[in-house]
Amino acid sequence: MQTFEDLSLISPLLRALDAQDYQRPTPIQQQAIPPLLAGRDVLGCAQTGTGKTAAFALPILQRLAEAPPAKARAPRALVLTPTRELAAQIDESFRDYGRHVRARHAVIFGGVNEKPQIRALERGLDILVATPGRLLDLLGRGYVDLRAVELFVLDEADRMLDMGFIHDVRKVLAALPRDRQNLLFSATMPPPIVELASSFLDNPAQIEVTPPATTVERIEQRVMFVERQNKRALLVSLLGGTDVDRALVFTRTKHGANRLATQLDKAGIQAAAIHGNKSQSARTRALDGFRSGAISVLIATDIAARGIDVDGISHVVNYELPNEPESYVHRIGRTGRAGRSGVAISLCDGTETGYLRAIERTIGQRIDVDEGHGYHAAAVVPGRPAPERTRGDATPRPNDARRPGNGRRQGSRASRGSRQRRSGSAGFR
Ligand code: AMP
Repeated sequence: MQTFEDLSLISPLLRALDAQDYQRPTPIQQQAIPPLLAGRDVLGCAQTGTGKTAAFALPILQRLAEAPPAKARAPRALVLTPTRELAAQIDESFRDYGRHVRARHAVIFGGVNEKPQIRALERGLDILVATPGRLLDLLGRGYVDLRAVELFVLDEADRMLDMGFIHDVRKVLAALPRDRQNLLFSATMPPPIVELASSFLDNPAQIEVTPPATTVERIEQRVMFVERQNKRALLVSLLGGTDVDRALVFTRTKHGANRLATQLDKAGIQAAAIHGNKSQSARTRALDGFRSGAISVLIATDIAARGIDVDGISHVVNYELPNEPESYVHRIGRTGRAGRSGVAISLCDGTETGYLRAIERTIGQRIDVDEGHGYHAAAVVPGRPAPERTRGDATPRPNDARRPGNGRRQGSRASRGSRQRRSGSAGFR
């Protein structure tokens, strides 16, 4: 089994990893660290939760430690990431892993007072972690000097695309020196990301730990069919379960997240909502409470939850199914981290069966149906349209695996990766 020593990391980094109690490198770290230390570009297909931050942070710190900074201390490494939460977490990782290395780091992101960020830039630093908007703003006003950047990391590239930041990313790229080492990480590789990657990566080492849009094996996935008006009661009963240590609940809208937090509070369940309309301090407070265990339920929208790095999330509940199947993969990846198992439960009402089908197509497996709850809505189940059937076409096709009367799932996809954990209750009708 490979160790961090085997990866030729220097002892100040090994000591820091020891303090973090990391026993051995994760697969992405095993694959990414050697080519990065060798100075190669890397294209990594990996989600948050795989240990990808250390996969790029360690080689960056090593490189900076080996070649001490010039006097001016303009950033030599730039990490661009889409959300403030991710930016803050990455900066903390540099602090943790770099505690015995003389490298200064700082983070800049929008939504907070810029003055402390400007002061940090003026003091000089080696590693800059930034979200695109604030970086371009401060760059435009002359507070950031990117001319010394030797290492550039584009993190969560697909989410940059989703959030409409690709244009900003290109502007940042244009401000970087030509001669540099590049790294691009993305959970999925849609064509615009492949195109972007090929525009600036030079013969990259390509690494992939979780194939795109594949859900993590350790996560036990279930779907519960329920009438919309019963969702809240079902959620309350689920959250009251003794096995629920820390649950992350997803809604589609910010408003829905707020409303649900209030309703859960009324039902005696300590919950906080986190989304883009909340101030940074409210988000930090909610996250800290969740991390410390003061709050056992965090309600989030997709964008806010992206990259939330909280260990020990026992359950992810999709209170509303995402309309983007990729979001399902990101959502459930919040549990089952760092080698632990996790449970992902999706509450599906009659209006969401189409989303469920799209998700199952994307992950390439059927999600087990859990009927063993008090709110099972049999009426919702037959509403699950078969994939091939067009709207209004009630006639089953010869190959339709779910013909009426054919209650069990069939076909080659049916058994793939799916655990039959319910006592015969699971059935796709
Ligand atoms: P990331 O994918 O970078 O967000 O990391 C996910 C989580 O895994 C974080 O909580 C890290 O602290 C943790 N982690 C990263 N590398 C390791 C490792 N080699 N061993 C154990 N935990 C790790």
